[in-house]
Amino acid sequence: MIQDIAPHRFERAYTPHPAERSDYAVCVSGGAVLLERSGAEWHLPRFAALGAVPADGRYLFSLDGTGCFSASAPEEAAEGCEYVPIQKVRGVRPMETAFAALTGAQLVRWYESRAFCGRCGAAAVHSTQERAMVCPACGQTEYPKLCPAVIVAVTDGDRLLLTRYRDRPYRGDALVAGFAEIGETLEDTVRREVAEEVGLQVKNVRYYKSQPWALTDTLLAGFYCELSGADTITLEEAELKEGFWVRRAELTPHDEGVSLTSEMIERFRLGEID
Ligand SMILES: [Zn+2]
Repeated sequence: MIQDIAPHRFERAYTPHPAERSDYAVCVSGGAVLLERSGAEWHLPRFAALGAVPADGRYLFSLDGTGCFSASAPEEAAEGCEYVPIQKVRGVRPMETAFAALTGAQLVRWYESRAFCGRCGAAAVHSTQERAMVCPACGQTEYPKLCPAVIVAVTDGDRLLLTRYRDRPYRGDALVAGFAEIGETLEDTVRREVAEEVGLQVKNVRYYKSQPWALTDTLLAGFYCELSGADTITLEEAELKEGFWVRRAELTPHDEGVSLTSEMIERFRLGEID
């Protein structure tokens, strides 16, 4: 999956220091991230390639020991660099670039939305201790936004339930999915989302794996579960365009190595999940 970048290291500890020319720049502009192309490979540009270390760089995290800093976007992309739309960044390689660029863009988006305190409206400042914005007037502390959500593979013997979204950029096969709501366990979310999206009841809900999904500020938790009762699908048409059962033998290879959804479909296709 996109976060599995070993032997490369994504170092999330908050260890701020001044940016240097050898550090990576995370420049986000108009829903795109600035990346530098080198043959078939992509990398975050180093400040040296952009000509200067900006005064407003903010430490985000490190990749293989090199700091990644947010930076104001240059008016024109430097030679060899181009703005890659955020929906396409998941497809760039190597994977550590895709993961760092998307996670960096997520943090940039969050910082932009937390310039002011949500309680009293005063200008917020960055904590000196941790990755958080603090209000100097009322003390409110805000951490990066993470929304828990579930991905649900509903099975019925050798059949798997697939869905397709109605109005999202992603057009391929999907699983039932949705955000946890107030007062729910993730297992409650699984049962509610399946009932809402496809009108089915499920049993034997089992946790599989999780995945940080920066595009939607989400922490995804994947679950497998079994159909309980009637198999007639009643679609929530505002969200889904299609919902259908597919036999294991009719599934095409799915794992593009990026998303939890594709890995879960592939594990079922390979018969590794009952
Ligand atoms: Zn405040």
